[in-house]
Amino acid sequence: MIDVHCHTRFSIDSQTEPCALIEAARAVNLTRIAITDHADFAPGDSSFDPDSYLRELAILRGDHNGIRVAVGVELGIQVGHAASAAAFLGKRPFDMVIASMHRVRAHDIGVPGWGCDITAEEAWTAYFQDALDSARVCDNFDVFGHLDIPRRYGITRGTRAEGDSLVYLDALLAWLISEDKTLELNTSGFRYGLDSFHPQKWIMERYFQLGGRRVTVGSDAHVLGDVGSRIPDALALLREIGFTHVRTFFNRSGEDIPIPGEFSDEQRWVCS
Ligand SMILES: [Zn+2]
Ligand SMILES: [Zn+2]
Repeated sequence: MIDVHCHTRFSIDSQTEPCALIEAARAVNLTRIAITDHADFAPGDSSFDPDSYLRELAILRGDHNGIRVAVGVELGIQVGHAASAAAFLGKRPFDMVIASMHRVRAHDIGVPGWGCDITAEEAWTAYFQDALDSARVCDNFDVFGHLDIPRRYGITRGTRAEGDSLVYLDALLAWLISEDKTLELNTSGFRYGLDSFHPQKWIMERYFQLGGRRVTVGSDAHVLGDVGSRIPDALALLREIGFTHVRTFFNRSGEDIPIPGEFSDEQRWVCS
């Protein structure tokens, strides 16, 4: 049981104490967790001083009575913030870097009205295009987070990406695979009233079909009660698609952990 996307009070939208997070993880039988607080770079966004963050969390990093704690960051990527993101990461010893899109072409997609002047298909296209452009220029990351996050908001709320936008989705997935990046299955979608994880199952299936095998699972917990939320369901979904392992990271190095369960020979994937 692992959950490698959790927030603490270092994020503007969480008040969780890191020690309490570890205890909550223990209570739901997690054996690996990653603290991945927000660093976004537009004025007013959530960010923190990386040196004090790493210094304060150093005491919690590593093995704690059966739980391995990684200290990472969820980096908000944007084409215009590439220099800020690079300076933030520097040579700092994060265990894991999640790259996430919280803005599309500089607009915060969580602000009401996202995409209200275009169609949902145009909004999905803009999102996938910008995600690929941003990932290319902010490519110092390990995991791409909550891929279809526009499903939470505005014109794209609850919709499925369709039409021309799928060309750009495929381009993004192909790039992630070619760069040996990992795709996250983020369980928070249900907490936003959606009927799926981020991304939806069909996108994970498309990633698998294109050759993607590297996946993480994360709750994106901002409160203690969400730590480990729906992780068993996420593992079952991955297993159903054909994935055989989930990744964890430590020292920016990935480790593939077998997903419990039986697999056919066709589904079996041998870790390299
Ligand atoms: Zn996020
Ligand atoms: Zn998050």
